[in-house]
Amino acid sequence: MSLNTLTIKKFHDGLLAKKFSALEVAQTFFANIKEHDPEIGAYLNLNEENAMREAETVDAAVAKNESVGMLAGVPLAVKDNILIKGQPATAGSKILEHYTASYDAGVIKKLKNEKAIFLGKTNMDEFAMGSSTENSAFQITKNPRDPERVPGGSSGGSAAAVTADLALAGLGSDTGGSIRQPASFCGVVGLKPTYGAVSRSGLIAMASSLDQIGPLTKTVEDAAIIFDAIRGHDPLDSTSADTNYGNELLNPDFVKIKELTIGVPEEYFVDGLNNEVKTAVESARKTIEGFGVKFKKISLPHTKYALSTYYIIMPAEVSANLARFDGIRYEQATSDKRQATSLKDVYFKTRGAGFGQEAKRRIILGTFVLSSGYYDAYYKKAQQIRTLIKNDFDEAFKEVDAILAPVAPTPAFKIGEKTEDPLSMYLSDIFTIPVNLAGLPALAIPARNYADYTQTNAENFPRESASSQRKSASLPIGFQLIGKPWREADILGLGQYYERTTIPEFYSG
Ligand code: GLN
Repeated sequence: MSLNTLTIKKFHDGLLAKKFSALEVAQTFFANIKEHDPEIGAYLNLNEENAMREAETVDAAVAKNESVGMLAGVPLAVKDNILIKGQPATAGSKILEHYTASYDAGVIKKLKNEKAIFLGKTNMDEFAMGSSTENSAFQITKNPRDPERVPGGSSGGSAAAVTADLALAGLGSDTGGSIRQPASFCGVVGLKPTYGAVSRSGLIAMASSLDQIGPLTKTVEDAAIIFDAIRGHDPLDSTSADTNYGNELLNPDFVKIKELTIGVPEEYFVDGLNNEVKTAVESARKTIEGFGVKFKKISLPHTKYALSTYYIIMPAEVSANLARFDGIRYEQATSDKRQATSLKDVYFKTRGAGFGQEAKRRIILGTFVLSSGYYDAYYKKAQQIRTLIKNDFDEAFKEVDAILAPVAPTPAFKIGEKTEDPLSMYLSDIFTIPVNLAGLPALAIPARNYADYTQTNAENFPRESASSQRKSASLPIGFQLIGKPWREADILGLGQYYERTTIPEFYSG
């Protein structure tokens, strides 16, 4: 079975037309995973038995002509910081190596109701801290487009899985770019929803005022379908909200979409932005302009403070959230805590052995900026600047409906290229972080060269890795559409219109 252009809608149509069964498709994905994942490293663990059983349930329902939803039987990859009851959830950390989730995350409950299938849990930077998935305590994930390069991060496992046809779609989480940047690096679609649109219950917290779960998919339409299924209020997350999205998400009104005005922020197109990225974003702009959409120059003057603001607020929240991993409440890897001589020693031994370098760096930074005497100078100041950044967007949205920007300043970099230099790694989130600070929705879409895209699937993976010294010119590059709060419909509609013109194969019969 060719999975190359199988989208959620095509899967659904094929399932109902009995062209294939959910079980067959799940088996094909597991076969692909077994053949190719040893080289790619997208998955940390698989959920084969449950997945097969769930697929059979879906097939039984289809056989009885019961009505099944769009996501029934759809095989998904789930980032390992999202809890699925009874399954491991390591968040990429040694400290959670032996932890088994005791409940389902809010998004998982919703997807289970839709009868979606979970293939397994995917690799990630430890506690979602990173931009390359190299901070995982367990393994390196390779970019299926070029195995010498990183898939991006921190949701690199889910992005690689979708790219290499090891899952039909995936879930990631985005605190400062962790869905959008890997989507850009791998050439897939990633949506970071409005803060509060999706429940964070059962998401292992990184920075709670910034974290959101969202889809990683092959097409914008798939992202819309998954977003529509996982959004909405959850009593277990008081920051989650119900808003009236109507059916705009699934049935965009393209006539209205073409009347939108898009802002292009001057601060996002500065020296240091890689030329190929600049060209890719510009070509996407031209394509969209061709639809009749208007563009306007805008200014987001506080952009230059976003990265430093994030690297104060985020570690502050990280230091609080990671305090719970104390060696007592969660199963953890170290046995030397049994030799501990005091309670404090249990903490030291557990945390010393269980956390990796990046987690420790951020816990220390966060504890410092929250400490008495420094709180006002750092944390409070950062919160004030966060408001200014948000105000910039509010002002811009008085004139425009959405904003076009790059996702990351460069295409995927080489494995090992930035591991010794955390600051250069942090810079890869410079265009994604302001969106999290302002709580906005944003979509990463490949500025596509379809000829390249067809080579992203697993069938080509070994051939590619053996043959090619791929130039970065042929690496995927994403562009970003940033929307008004709760206006995912605008960016998803626009993105879908863009795709229907640039990759019609994914939308035709
Ligand atoms: N790369 C960013 C960081 O390291 C963002 C991570 C994320 O969005 N989870 O913090």
